Amino acid sequence: MNKMETLNNLRIDVEQLDNEILSLLSKRGELVKKIGLTKKELNVNIFDPSRELELLSKIDNNNPGPYNIESLKRIFKEIFAASKFLQYNSELKENKPFLFSRDYKSEDTIVNVNGQNIGDGIPRFIIGPCAVESFEQVQKVAAEMSKRGLNLLRGGAFKPRTSPYDFQGLGIDGLKILSSVSKEYDMGVITEIMSTDQLEEALEYIDVIQVGARNMQNFSLLKAVGQTNTPVLLKRGLSATIEEFKLAAEYILAEGNTNVILCERGIRTYETATRNTLDISAVPILKQETHLPVVVDVTHSTGRKDLLIPTAKAALAIGADGIMAEVHPNPAIALSDSKQQMNFDEFNHFMDAIETFSNKAVLEP
Ligand code: PEP
Ligand code: MN
Repeated sequence: MNKMETLNNLRIDVEQLDNEILSLLSKRGELVKKIGLTKKELNVNIFDPSRELELLSKIDNNNPGPYNIESLKRIFKEIFAASKFLQYNSELKENKPFLFSRDYKSEDTIVNVNGQNIGDGIPRFIIGPCAVESFEQVQKVAAEMSKRGLNLLRGGAFKPRTSPYDFQGLGIDGLKILSSVSKEYDMGVITEIMSTDQLEEALEYIDVIQVGARNMQNFSLLKAVGQTNTPVLLKRGLSATIEEFKLAAEYILAEGNTNVILCERGIRTYETATRNTLDISAVPILKQETHLPVVVDVTHSTGRKDLLIPTAKAALAIGADGIMAEVHPNPAIALSDSKQQMNFDEFNHFMDAIETFSNKAVLEP
């Protein structure tokens, strides 16, 4: 036998052993699942560090070589981790697809807000000031939106401000303003709720609960909004991966609320040219990997008015279901995000540019 044949034969032997290891691991996994169920019946913890130490020390004593004990410990710790995963999940969701996934639901979810079907293929625009400051301020914006046939009004009443000394929003009074203006102009209201104790009262006044970037992993809030039937606009966390973003949506879906809209609003990177880095490829990734509508907040992602038109075009071209942008009657005196909000001329110019772009895209696919 030449050396090459020897090598091939040795490899065949190794593969055979790998198959045996696999089948032993599978048997071990089945046992581990039974142990997990028994632990649940006995109401004892799945994680038992003293038992793991005991097993590792037995492995140390029984190690026949040639692997050194540190390598073996690493391998067995991985097996223990995979086993704990099986035990935690065996009852909960054995091989069940995530509720956000296309495996669970292949067709697009459409979220109806005040007659606007977000996710039906027609771009929607969520427009309004950063914060609700007064009745007149919100009314002026709504009147301007109305002229363009837009009826999804945003505005923050509970503002997540970096500094505790900055304007924190008008709270429930702000919601009342949003609600009365929206009734006057027949609009749907989208506004951020920052904590579970604001939720119940807020639901009387609003059509969509916004969970802001800073609260994307506020799991009690996610569960609480999941227990309502009100649509939720979930913003991507400041430094959240797409995986974390999808799992945050899962929290809401798992509680039974299927009306979830995802909002890409830029993530924090080393780049300082924009306020955040708009992760434009997140849009098609989220559209492929989830059935939920995806909108892009061009204002908070860029923080730059000169980039709103190109980023909105890019978002729609890449498959976003809608755009969020901030508009204020007089941005210079706005109580928050003064630099990034559009005035009415800028807003009309923005909408003209996007409408021309969208119509062109429809005519010339
Ligand atoms: C907002 O939309 O008002 C807001 C605060 O945005 P974000 O949570 O994305 O920072
Ligand atoms: Mn803002």
